Amino acid sequence: MGGPLIYNQGLAVSPSKIETICSLLFSKYGQPQWKGGRDPLSELIATILSQNTSDRNSHRAFLNLKRRFPTWEEVQKATQGEIAEAIKVGGLSAQKANRIKSLLGRIYQEEGVLDLSFLAKMEVNQVQRYLLRFKGVGPKTAACVVLFSLGKPSMPVDTHILRVTKRLGLVPHRASAVQAQAALEGFLPSPLIYPLHLCLIEHGRKICKAKRPLCADCVLRGECDYPRKNEFTKKKT
Ligand code: SF4
Repeated sequence: MGGPLIYNQGLAVSPSKIETICSLLFSKYGQPQWKGGRDPLSELIATILSQNTSDRNSHRAFLNLKRRFPTWEEVQKATQGEIAEAIKVGGLSAQKANRIKSLLGRIYQEEGVLDLSFLAKMEVNQVQRYLLRFKGVGPKTAACVVLFSLGKPSMPVDTHILRVTKRLGLVPHRASAVQAQAALEGFLPSPLIYPLHLCLIEHGRKICKAKRPLCADCVLRGECDYPRKNEFTKKKT
């Protein structure tokens, strides 16, 4: 993958750097393949439940909701308090219950059915625009539905991806998660987005940790300015 430098919000990123990072990460963690996901409405609700909580608790909240109300029609007919009670293990249950109830009400009003399977036929930017109209659905939540449910290229940026891509110089140091998502979606080759997303999260959890990144053990060290800059900063102080 040769080619000219990509100017990403003023930051120059070479395609060969992206290729090398992907190749090193895939050698270390494997190259995950998308093998299908939940239907889009289930993914959307699961992602709302995952906001501001751990994976474990959001998974438990989703299972509890489905156990209490096996269909989305039953969730729509339930009161906000009943939904909140079912999902309370995930935290912020009143807010999330309100969002889920209003989301289901609006989808039913607009589509006449609680099913978002039609999103699979739309372009990525159309799906994003459709989902962003709902209260509580931001770019990251919309990207999760696009990537995990539809298997299409969109890059949800969580705390691990934001930190690792900044340290690697793929996105500007001051970029917000939303800006980083737009930048990464703008220059990453589509087939690499799903495997890179998963590998960057694993790398962020295991090696490129928030407080003390394990740079000496990192396969990306040769592609990363962070250790050199940090040593320089330490020497100056
Ligand atoms: S070299 Fe250090 S800062 Fe750079 S990606 Fe690896 S662990 Fe993170």
